[in-house]
Amino acid sequence: MGKAIRLSGLIILLVALLPPVGLRAQEMRPHSMLVLDQSDRRGPFYYQIFAALRAEVGAHAHAPTTVYSESLDLTRFGGEAYEDSLRQFLETKYRDRPIGVVVAVGTAALELVLRWRPSLWPQAPVVFALVEETEFARLRPPSFVTGGIVATKFADAVKAARAVVPNLTTIALVAEDWKRQLVFHNWKEEVEAGATDVRVIEIIGLPMEEVLERVSTLPENSAIVYSGLYSGRTGSYQPPAETLRLVAAKANRPIIVASETFIEPGGIGGFVLVPTTIGTDVARRALRILDGEIPERLPPSVIDAVKPVFNWHQMQHWNVSEASLPAGSRIELREPTVLEKYRWRAVMLAAALLVQAVLIAFLLHERHLRRKAEIEARNRLSQLAHINRQATAGELSSSIAHELNQPLGSILTNAETAELILGGVKPDLAEVREIISDIKRDDLRASEVIRRMRSLLKRAPFETKEIDLNLTMREAFDFLALQASARNVAFYLQTSPQALRVKGDPVQLQQVILNLIVNSMDAMAKMPYGRTIIGRTEVDGDASAVISISDSGPGIPQDKLNDIFDPFFTTKEQGMGIGLSIARTIVLAHSGQIWAENQSGGGAVFHLSLPLAA
Ligand code: ADP
Repeated sequence: MGKAIRLSGLIILLVALLPPVGLRAQEMRPHSMLVLDQSDRRGPFYYQIFAALRAEVGAHAHAPTTVYSESLDLTRFGGEAYEDSLRQFLETKYRDRPIGVVVAVGTAALELVLRWRPSLWPQAPVVFALVEETEFARLRPPSFVTGGIVATKFADAVKAARAVVPNLTTIALVAEDWKRQLVFHNWKEEVEAGATDVRVIEIIGLPMEEVLERVSTLPENSAIVYSGLYSGRTGSYQPPAETLRLVAAKANRPIIVASETFIEPGGIGGFVLVPTTIGTDVARRALRILDGEIPERLPPSVIDAVKPVFNWHQMQHWNVSEASLPAGSRIELREPTVLEKYRWRAVMLAAALLVQAVLIAFLLHERHLRRKAEIEARNRLSQLAHINRQATAGELSSSIAHELNQPLGSILTNAETAELILGGVKPDLAEVREIISDIKRDDLRASEVIRRMRSLLKRAPFETKEIDLNLTMREAFDFLALQASARNVAFYLQTSPQALRVKGDPVQLQQVILNLIVNSMDAMAKMPYGRTIIGRTEVDGDASAVISISDSGPGIPQDKLNDIFDPFFTTKEQGMGIGLSIARTIVLAHSGQIWAENQSGGGAVFHLSLPLAA
């Protein structure tokens, strides 16, 4: 009894000293995997599986891992002799390369691996990818095999076809000869069982020309289901994605596909195998096994490698709305919206608009400032013009006094006469009435003088209205008529027959004319006789009005014709030299021009032109 206890204690101790199963396996297992692929890997589908596998190994292997890979090319080559040559080739090539795990991509590859394993890699677990549910059930792989099972159902293709063709009655199945179909081979039974209530036209294993002819003449309410075609019985082989391009170019119905890599070449979509999911899954399983996990703990399982994916371009072409697609569908190749497509142009445009807006705001601000400055300048001009008018008034004061004295004197005389008549015995009332009417006339004359004086001294802000220059000219001449006669100057005024309508400030323009006339009178002051001033108004072309004031004075020295308009230029003893400079400022403010000339027969002439009002 005691011996037995000691023995069992020893066994327990020995077992405890042994490393765990996983760890032991890890120690023994070389970090290398041999990937055997059933295709020739020229097409995108198998290429993407392998690329995803390699990426996963690169990113997640815990120890440096060697990936060997061989394409068995079983879609194009087959038969016992070929398979045997492959086996010999692998045996020779990998004789000195220990393999930690064998990866079989595709059912055909898995079948060969299972057959070869006892002689080539008796210790290595096997991980498979891309084995369909029914194929897996048929193979019933032993326990050292694990992998991701895919569920590709013909019923799913029919479901997708119904989504894109509303009243679907017929499906044209375009496929490689069943014997050579390595993937979707399981559809054969489904189609033959007639499980789906649509008519299936099989365009299978036919020459390419015939395939193209048939797909271009399909009936209404039908869809094409394309599972892959690479021989077309022409003797040449090409990746099925390339064949699909030819089929899509001729097809008169949308094409349902079952591989993600068939979307871009012309498939409208369907429940498709996603190669990257398959590659990632197989790599993860292989890495776990290399890390020491035993396949039994990692049983084969159906993986989520089939997804509803659709082609946006084809949807537009066949007028298929997003709403009619199966729930959870992903849409590929979606055209960017106009805004997305032209984003940079839109950004540039927005920027340009912004710059423009800023510029406009700046210009408006500038304009505002300029307007403010203009208003200020006009106010100054009004002030200056006012001072100038006061000066004119000062000059005119003696003649004005005289002008006032005359009516006031006759009013007094008439009043005295009336008083005398009324003091008589029998006053002549008719005469008194006549005298009173004379008094009233003289009073009006006096008040007219005062009114004019007031208007001259009125301080008016700059204002524009449409005026007739003929009237302005006549008023100025009338205004100075008395002064002219006092100074022995003869006035002549010739106005144009038609009105000279201009836009301007009447008070300021009148001031310009007054300045010119007063200057002419001043210029002729020393002449013993023959003092004459002639005023003229006329239309020049049909755009401007021209006023001229000429005198019979000495004229202006030729080199001073421009200087006289400068501020403070004067040749007079009492002169201020601002009359002409103000005149020029006023004329420029009215968009006009003023200039002086000497007349051939002597004397100066001043011209002033103003734009006619439209
Ligand atoms: P002011 O009359 O105070 O001198 P103005 O600016 O009105 O100032 O005139 C400037 C000068 O232009 C005058 O001093 C005079 O020399 C000259 N001038 C103006 N008008 C005439 C004219 N009709 N004939 C000759 N010289 C003139």
